[in-house]
Amino acid sequence: MNKTMDWEQNVRRAEPYVPGEQPGGRSIIKLNTNECPYPPAPGVRRRAESLDFDRLRLYPDTEAGPLAAALCEYYGVRPEQLFIGVGSDDVLAMAFLTFFNSGKPILFPDITYSFYHVWAQLYRIPYVRKPLDRELRIVKEDYLGENGGIIIPNPNAPTGIFEEVGVMEEIIAANRGSVVILDEAYVDFGGESCQKLIDQYDNLLVVQTFSKSRAMAGMRIGFAMGSPKLIRCLKDVKFSFNSYTMNMPSIELGVESVRDEGYFRATVDKVIATRERMKGELGRLGFSFPDSKANFLFASHESVPARRIFEELKGEGIYVRYWDQPRISNRLRITVGTDREMDMLIEKLEAILHRISGEGAEMEKKND
Ligand SMILES: *Cc1c(COP(=O)(O)O)cnc(C)c1O
Repeated sequence: MNKTMDWEQNVRRAEPYVPGEQPGGRSIIKLNTNECPYPPAPGVRRRAESLDFDRLRLYPDTEAGPLAAALCEYYGVRPEQLFIGVGSDDVLAMAFLTFFNSGKPILFPDITYSFYHVWAQLYRIPYVRKPLDRELRIVKEDYLGENGGIIIPNPNAPTGIFEEVGVMEEIIAANRGSVVILDEAYVDFGGESCQKLIDQYDNLLVVQTFSKSRAMAGMRIGFAMGSPKLIRCLKDVKFSFNSYTMNMPSIELGVESVRDEGYFRATVDKVIATRERMKGELGRLGFSFPDSKANFLFASHESVPARRIFEELKGEGIYVRYWDQPRISNRLRITVGTDREMDMLIEKLEAILHRISGEGAEMEKKND
């Protein structure tokens, strides 16, 4: 027997995705994971309260039938063009596994959702990160050459920048030989979906989620729309892995969210109005940021380092997101909360900035 044989040499090593903190406590203001600050539609609660408890004995519908029907009607797609999963993270992970197998590198932006390189590493998919330009925008030309697949969020995260459908269409059209995944987690906050292109391009997969605009991150519902061929492949892989991922309550409650278009619109409109007001307020305090079409702003301050503000805010019980990473280490990603939460944020920021600039003046006096 080989003494040096060691199971640890044969482990699939993974460096996991690190989500934003989920701190406990009532008095904190949580602006670090882009959740919706408002509750799900009232019908979701009503349905939750009347769920048939006895049905939990049974396996759920593998095709998430009622939810699939509601989404098909809402988006005007056929059942064979729709795939549902446990949050869009599940959908995206399945899509990576299914479509990115050519051995050629897949492409995504250098500043983007940090789960993409985690999946690529987990599945051993080669990848190349294409740098955003100085304005933090996607460089279309980077995605027109040979590749093993493309994944782009639109709007991009954490920049919030939305690229026009025409730009995305050029990328999709130039890549008929590989699958282009568009991650539209934030599209409801003022962008425009490329979903309308799925009949035209059989290499396009559009992925969306209930976690942000539908205020249901805790339910874990995501979905993808694409050509019947793509969706068939995705389902074959999913059903080779675990058929019963969508639980019955998620299916039933998701339906109620889709049915209440009025509530959905009103909620999204409130978030957008608050975001636009925040652009003015943060600008007044010396922050700058790309013009976000998402439910967050990616802000840097003209004189105070982002890390310092991040720590000071945390001390005050306000959580925003900060990454100590090249090119973005002087930025904060601030989720748009309620108006009251945003007023608290502005008030605390004013005090923090005032105090820090006071420290600066003290130092200068001492140095004189
Ligand atoms: C939040 C987010 C997701 C994941 O959302 P879930 O549906 O909750 O898994 C995917 N992509 C981007 C860009 C996100 O910001």
